[in-house]
Amino acid sequence: MTYSVSPIGFVRSCFKEKFAIPRQPQLAPAARGVLELVAPFDQGEAVQGLEQVSHVWLLFLFHQALEDKPRLKVRPPRLGGNQSMGVFATRATHRPNGIGQSVVKLDRVEAQRLWISAIDLLDGTPILDIKPYVPYADTIPGAVNGIASAAPLLIPVLWTDHALQQAHDHAQRLDEPLVELIEQCLAQDPRPAYQKPTPEREYGARFWDLDVRWHYPEAGTIRVLEVIPAR
Ligand code: SAM
Repeated sequence: MTYSVSPIGFVRSCFKEKFAIPRQPQLAPAARGVLELVAPFDQGEAVQGLEQVSHVWLLFLFHQALEDKPRLKVRPPRLGGNQSMGVFATRATHRPNGIGQSVVKLDRVEAQRLWISAIDLLDGTPILDIKPYVPYADTIPGAVNGIASAAPLLIPVLWTDHALQQAHDHAQRLDEPLVELIEQCLAQDPRPAYQKPTPEREYGARFWDLDVRWHYPEAGTIRVLEVIPAR
C-alpha cells in the first residue's frame, strides 16, 4: 500500500550544503532559518496559537538523500563511518521513506512563515508537518541511548585575524550571528572521523552566501582561514 504526502512548507536555511550541518538540532543555537508555509497553510489560521510555544517538532523529507532501494543497515558518522548498525537504531538520513524529525526553537510566528533556530536542516528542506513540543511528554528523565549517549565532543575553533574580521563584516551585513554559527558548527568537527587531515589540507563549507574555509593546524584544533562570498 502506498500513501502520498505533500509538503506544508519549505525551509530557507543558513545551511546551503550538507557538509558541516550539525548532526542534530539544538547543537548550534545560532543556526537560523525561516519555514515558508505554502497554500492553504499560509493564511494564519493554521499557525494560530503557536505563539504560545517555544519549540516545535518538524517532520521533514531528507530531500537530498532519497533512495529507491531502502537500506537495512547504515554506517553512522558518529561511529566513525566504519561500523554498521540497523537503520532503525540510528537517525541516518538514508532511511525508508526518507523522513527526518527535528525539535527546533520557534523565534517568531507570522501568518506565512515561522522563524526558527537551532536547526539541522538543509536549505530547501520540504516540511511535512509541524507539531508543538510538549515538555511533559517529550522530556524523558533517565532515557538511555547506548549508541548516542551524549552530544559530540567539541574541539577548539581558532581564527586568523583576517578571517575573524571578514566574519564580523559579513555578520553585520547579513544581520546574523555568523561568528557564533561558524564556531558552533565547526566545534563539532564536521570532518569524517576516518580522515586524518594534514595542516596543509583545507576544508570548506557554505553558510548563508559565504564560503568558509578552515584547516587543522594540529589534531583536534580547527583554525578558520577565510570567510568570503560564495562563487
Ligand atoms: N534531526 C534529524 C533526525 O533525527 O531525523 C536529522 C538527523 S540527520 C543525522 C542530520 C543530518 O541530515 C545533517 O547533518 C545534514 O547533513 C542532513 N540533512 C539535513 N537536511 C537534509 C535534507 N533536506 N536532505 C538530506 N540531508 C539533510
